[in-house]
Amino acid sequence: MKLAVLPGDGIGKEIVAQAVKVLEVLKREGAGIEMEYGNIGGVGYDAEGDPLPESTLKLSKQADAVLLGAVGGPQYDKLDRPLRPERGLLRIRKELNLFANLRPALLYPELAGASSLKPEVVSGLDIMIVRELTGDVYFGQPRGIEIRNGERVGFNTMIYSESEVRRVAHVAFGIAMKRGKRLCSVEKANVLECSELWRDVVAEVAKEYPEVELSSLYVDNAAMQLVKNPKQFDVIVTGNIFGDILSDQASMLSGSIGMLPSASLDENNKGMYEPIHGSAPDIAGKDIANPLATILSVAMMYRYTFADMATADRIENAVKKVIAQGFRTGDIWTEGTTRVSCSGMGDEVVAAL
Ligand code: NAD
Repeated sequence: MKLAVLPGDGIGKEIVAQAVKVLEVLKREGAGIEMEYGNIGGVGYDAEGDPLPESTLKLSKQADAVLLGAVGGPQYDKLDRPLRPERGLLRIRKELNLFANLRPALLYPELAGASSLKPEVVSGLDIMIVRELTGDVYFGQPRGIEIRNGERVGFNTMIYSESEVRRVAHVAFGIAMKRGKRLCSVEKANVLECSELWRDVVAEVAKEYPEVELSSLYVDNAAMQLVKNPKQFDVIVTGNIFGDILSDQASMLSGSIGMLPSASLDENNKGMYEPIHGSAPDIAGKDIANPLATILSVAMMYRYTFADMATADRIENAVKKVIAQGFRTGDIWTEGTTRVSCSGMGDEVVAAL
C-alpha cells in the first residue's frame, strides 16, 4: 500500500507525526505500507511557489491513499487567490476526483460534557454525513464579479448533473447498508431546480437499495433537526454547499473539532484522509494539538480504501481506550482527567494498540 503523507501547515506536522507513529506500529508488525512525504498548502508555496506542487500531485496520483494534516496560515492570506494554501486543497480534491466526502459525527460518552448541547440530547450520537465534494455552486460556471447597470454584482452557478448525484447517492446508500439502513437526503427542492433534480435522482437510486429507508429534508429543517434531535439521523447525503455547513454544525455536537476525522473518496475507493479541522495557527508549534482526529482518519483509511475492517476497529478501539483511561489534550481536558501533549497522546494510542 502506497501512502502519500502531506502534513501541510500549522499543527499539520505535529498531528500527522502521531498518526505516522500508529502506522509505524502496523508496519513493524508486517503491514506492507510505503510512506512518501510531499508538500501542500503554505509549505508547498514556500518550497515550490505552488500550494499544490506538481511533485505532490504526481505522488498523490500514484498513491493508494493520501494522509493530509491541514493547510493555511495568516502569513498566506495576502497572496493572490490561486496561490493561497486552501486552493491547493480544492485542487487536489478535484484532480483526484474525490467526489464523496465522509464526515462522521460521533460522540464518545466520556466527552458528552464537552458538547454545547445537553448530554441527553447528544449522548450516543453517531451520524455519518456524506457530502458531495466536487460539484455544486463551488465549481459551477459562470461565476464572477462584474459591473451590471452601473453597479457590481457577484454571481455563482448551482449545478448538478444526474451522474454526479447518482454516484454520491450510491456511496451514501452503500454506507447506510453497513450502518443503520436509514438515509436522509438533504436539499432545497421547494425553491431550487438543482435540488429538484437531486431529489428525483436519489429516489431513483433508492430503488436499488430496498432495505434502506430513505427520507428527505429541506436544508433549513435539517439544520434545525440537527440541534433539536440529532440522534434521529443515521446517514445524511447532501450537496457541496449544504454539506459544508451541516457537517461543521454536526461536528460541534460532539464537542471538539480535534476528535473528528474525514475521508474523501473517488469511484474506486481511493481516498484522501484528513482531520476536519484547520491548521490552528494559534496553537501551532506548541505540541498541544489533539492528534486523535488524524489518527482516526488513518482508521477510516483502513476501513474505506484498504477494506481492512479489523485494523480500522483496532485503531478506533485504541482511541476509545485512551479516552476511557482519562487522557486528554487541552481542547477536551476537564477536571479530574490527565492532560497530555500532542506527542504524549500519540504515545498513549500506540501503547493502547
Ligand atoms: P481551525 O480549525 O484551524 O481552528 C479553529 C479553532 O480550533 C482554533 O482555536 C484551534 O486552536 C482549534 N483547533 C483546531 N484543531 C485543533 C486540534 N487538533 N486540537 C486542538 N485544538 C484545535 O480553523 P480556523 O482557525 O478557522 O483556520 C485556521 C487556518 O486553517 C486558516 O488558514 C484556514 O483557512 C485553514 N483551514 C484549513 C482546513 C483544512 O486544511 N482542511 C480546514 C479549515 C480551515
